[in-house]
Amino acid sequence: MSEKFFAKAHCRQCGGHIEFPCEAAGMMVPCPHCQKPTPLPAALRGKRKIWWLVMPGLLLGLIVVGWLAMNGLPHTGRAVKPSVIPNPAPADLQRVSQLAFWNFAIERKEESTITHATARVLNESDAVRYGIEVKLELLDALGQPVGTAKDYLERLEPNQDSHIRALVIKRDTVSARIQSITEQ
Ligand SMILES: [Zn+2]
Repeated sequence: MSEKFFAKAHCRQCGGHIEFPCEAAGMMVPCPHCQKPTPLPAALRGKRKIWWLVMPGLLLGLIVVGWLAMNGLPHTGRAVKPSVIPNPAPADLQRVSQLAFWNFAIERKEESTITHATARVLNESDAVRYGIEVKLELLDALGQPVGTAKDYLERLEPNQDSHIRALVIKRDTVSARIQSITEQ
């Protein structure tokens, strides 16, 4: 307790007003009015002033609790959920803006001319992601870009995984990778 906290009392002898630093609580002191010794109360320890010290701490605590309620606990405080990403990490694992992509494949059905670029996706952030537009770069057998394909994910919860499946028009596509992510 610092010296700047004062309490108030009255002299036992003359009833005069005494203001004293909290450190002096419970002591016998000479009254500033009648000079006779008078005890200073021990219980009065500047409660009201201490309350003003405690209040900002309480308010800060409430703000922190409110923030955590809205945003979830930080990574360090949360029980780690096992990831769906294989361990060791797949060679084609790509991370873009806290989204992880892996298992890229080009699906071509024998009887059909329709080709799809597919991949797994995991939301590695603590936020629900909305309106994720995934733009894929398509590559030929030599690894040269031949075009792009797009897929759209309406909603992805934190730690939720899903699939992307984008229509591919370029017939010489043999692999794909993430080119860009845009979100609502
Ligand atoms: Zn007095």
